[in-house]
Amino acid sequence: MNDQVKRAAAAHAVARLRATCLAEDGQRPRLDRGEPRKARCDRCRLPPTHCACALHASVPTRAGVCLLMAPFEALKPSNTGWLVADVVPDTQAFAWSRTQADPALTALLDDPRWQPFVVFPREFAAPGRVVANLPDRAPGGARRPLFILLDGTWAEARKAFRRSPYLDRFPVLALDPAALSRYRLRSAWHEHHLCTAEIAALCLGLAGDMRAARMLEAWLDVFSDRYLRARQSVPADESDQAHRRLAALRDAGG
Ligand SMILES: [Zn+2]
Repeated sequence: MNDQVKRAAAAHAVARLRATCLAEDGQRPRLDRGEPRKARCDRCRLPPTHCACALHASVPTRAGVCLLMAPFEALKPSNTGWLVADVVPDTQAFAWSRTQADPALTALLDDPRWQPFVVFPREFAAPGRVVANLPDRAPGGARRPLFILLDGTWAEARKAFRRSPYLDRFPVLALDPAALSRYRLRSAWHEHHLCTAEIAALCLGLAGDMRAARMLEAWLDVFSDRYLRARQSVPADESDQAHRRLAALRDAGG
């Protein structure tokens, strides 16, 4: 496979958004925390010594994911919206804008095949807008859930939630606090709030896309582990529990 074909094959929605950001913005900040810029795999963003491209698989889902990404988010090697797009083929990604939604985003939100839900904590939404679960699926008819996730720092996500009038017409899906705290215990990765991949996995579980939810959780675990080991210059361990769980899901197929 030549490089061009490889790059085209790698271009899921977040990878395309990243390419657009790189092409448009010469002023981007350095995102490697002062270290000399490291070589990273184009596809999984890990250093070549820790590349994990062969380890995960995509899983078709009934639900879709729409990532609205803060500036520079798609450029961060630690962004986990990228991992969602690795697993869920029906992932779309857009740069967040206060005033003007991308025409492709508007078209997606207006597409009658999808029922969009803005995923956000209940305390920030008007009570009448909040739902805690997805409506039961009507036989043969219900629209596919589309989870809109605001991907950025917590401050950026709150700002996007408050200042996106084009999202105001959609219900707000508030995730169950018990499920959230279970995740928090597990997650030393992002201390203060769930990362985007964790939220997406919970949403997929609610929609009944269990295999995708598990694949995404397992992929996040393996990615996080390899990311930290690469920073510490420690080799990856493919025999650990996280890797074995991911391999079992991948090999189970179907
Ligand atoms: Zn890779």
